[in-house]
Amino acid sequence: MLKILLTSAVIVLLSSSEETKVFICDSENAVAYHYTKKCRGIKQCKHKILEVTKEKALERKLKLCGWED
Ligand SMILES: [Zn+2]
Repeated sequence: MLKILLTSAVIVLLSSSEETKVFICDSENAVAYHYTKKCRGIKQCKHKILEVTKEKALERKLKLCGWED
């Protein structure tokens, strides 16, 4: 029973990761994406803050912000 629960939990995690929303700074100099708008990193953004899927952020060659877990 526990095994079934764990398996379905993993599936949910995997399928949701593709649709994860992240926040990015709409700047040419942006290097990172963020899980929260309150992040210390994105607060330095002087441009628009965009909410995109993680996939889009990775397409822009952005890396997970250093302030995140
Ligand atoms: Zn961040």
